[in-house]
Amino acid sequence: ARSDEGGWTGVNERTFIAVKPDGVQRRLLGEIVRRFEKRGFKLVAVKLVKASEELLREHYWQLRNKPFYSTLISYMSSGPVVAMVWQGLDVVKTARKMLGETNPADSLPGTIRGDFCVEVGKNVIHGSDSVESAQKEIALWFRQSELHRWESSTKTWIY
Ligand code: UDP
Repeated sequence: ARSDEGGWTGVNERTFIAVKPDGVQRRLLGEIVRRFEKRGFKLVAVKLVKASEELLREHYWQLRNKPFYSTLISYMSSGPVVAMVWQGLDVVKTARKMLGETNPADSLPGTIRGDFCVEVGKNVIHGSDSVESAQKEIALWFRQSELHRWESSTKTWIY
């Protein structure tokens, strides 16, 4: 694995996760963090942020022509979000499975969306959809100095 410029692979793979404003309001942060910790992933960055529309427009630029785009931007700027970076083997794909489908109605019980929400416009959590998007999103939401390197004491029991 290369170091801090991105290109993290294997056990150093990283993903960007955000607990959306409804997730924060509904006190789901602890439960969500708990699931990632217990799965065996390592938290490398976390902060509570009121995202600017500029940041959100950049984050969701691929959806700019969708009918729900403006609703999505106002939803995401309606309150603070908890932005996080989690690290571990296959974390991008595994996190997406833990989240469930975009539409909570399609999300199985046991997933975050399948357990905690019902409506696509209030689906409580974001997770990067590929390693490439993860790298872009991490760079967009975090400064390099906010990404922490630390040795996990449980590492040899997880890998
Ligand atoms: N979204 C929505 N209506 C839709 C599809 C998506 O409000 O019909 C919102 C929803 O909050 C979703 C976000 O837009 O999480 C981004 O959509 P995307 O297709 O990237 O889904 P995700 O990767 O978040 O599952």
